[in-house]
Amino acid sequence: MSARTGAVVAVGDELLLGDVVNTNAAWLGEALAGAGVHVVHSAAVGDDVDRVARALRRALEDADVVVVTGGLGPTVDDLTREAVAQVAGVPLERSAALEQALRDRFASYGFPFPEQARKQADVPRGAQALDNRVGSAYGLRLEVDGRLLYALPGPPHELRAVARDGVLPELAALTQARVTTRQLKVAGLGESMVAERVEAAVTVPEGVDLAYLAGEGVVRVRFSTDGDPAVLEPVVAAAAAALGDDAFTQDDLALCEVVGAVLRDRGEFVASAESLTGGMVGTALTGYDGSSSSYRGGLVVYATDLKHALAGVPQDVLDAHGAVAPETAGALAEGVRERAGAHWGLATTGVAGPQEQEGKAVGTVHVAVAGLDGTTVRSLRLPGDRDAVRAVTVTMVLDLLRRRLRDAPPAEGR
Ligand code: ATP
Ligand code: MG
Repeated sequence: MSARTGAVVAVGDELLLGDVVNTNAAWLGEALAGAGVHVVHSAAVGDDVDRVARALRRALEDADVVVVTGGLGPTVDDLTREAVAQVAGVPLERSAALEQALRDRFASYGFPFPEQARKQADVPRGAQALDNRVGSAYGLRLEVDGRLLYALPGPPHELRAVARDGVLPELAALTQARVTTRQLKVAGLGESMVAERVEAAVTVPEGVDLAYLAGEGVVRVRFSTDGDPAVLEPVVAAAAAALGDDAFTQDDLALCEVVGAVLRDRGEFVASAESLTGGMVGTALTGYDGSSSSYRGGLVVYATDLKHALAGVPQDVLDAHGAVAPETAGALAEGVRERAGAHWGLATTGVAGPQEQEGKAVGTVHVAVAGLDGTTVRSLRLPGDRDAVRAVTVTMVLDLLRRRLRDAPPAEGR
């Protein structure tokens, strides 16, 4: 079979009621495309066995490969395996081997085995169970009238693990897809600025797709082709030259990981003093393996008096400029650098909204980096709501540090 078209069915009342955003459909769309399966149909359906079965039948009419996500858990509202069996016209059979594996898994966590969980060992006759390294819900794979049907768990990290292990390799082999993707990630520049710089320097050849994916202050410039991967080399090189220092990686790394790796190589530590981001910079800097070899710690100094009392911002700076000011950001970064005994101090202050503060407009943000050779402050006006302003602020302060690290000579101890 040369599988080409795909359909995604996401199961769960929570997706329809707006409690959970259907990110699985988006992730599957991209992942399946990478495996040569073009998604032509996507549906979301509530926790009702007949509805799920109907949605699966429609999807199977429409596509060579159907992936259903969610509803594989142990609770009464998890009905996907029943619906899959119904559609395939086969009974569910309990697998003794899967049940034992489930029992072993619970035992290894030190949890008693809930009888309800046995349900997860039920497999439609003729289906194959797909291993789940990160959770208890197995995936399922079966053929229905010559079409491939996969059922995958709903929690996004489980979906991804099962798909990567048990679905995408098979599909890629089946379609002989050879989609090659290269990317550059840029921080600190807007999407249209990035596009302008790239397009002035790069002529995108036939058969190569160029896409910009922007979010939280980072723009991904993505080139892909299903032809000869070699065509991407000169294109990526030209884009990299055009973007220069503004591109922070060509790998699948977050900005905090890139910054963390540079600090680790230099043997240097960073500390943070946060106002409007309330700990999000600390969260980013503790969120990857090896954080402890570059992050000292941080202060959340939201109230103005704590900026003085905990982060050591001189009272006269606060009196003269207020909490939201470049001078205050700089003093916060210097204060936390000093108090935490770090090589670098980071600071964020600003107005996340929805109300203005100290007469300063929503989106007014100052980020600062203090180091041995001085303090750099960047003042910004960021668009968007509270969440957007805070998320972009984290990117901006990490990017400011990244740029300083490029120029500054490594500190000789501290
Ligand atoms: P579990 O064993 O956790 O019950 P499950 O396969 O039954 O796994 P669901 O119960 O459908 O999965 O979903 C579990 C959680 O996974 C949901 O509460 C939701 O947070 C997340 N989730 C489910 N479907 C989606 C989706 N389409 N997009 C994003 N998140 C999802
Ligand atoms: Mg569930």
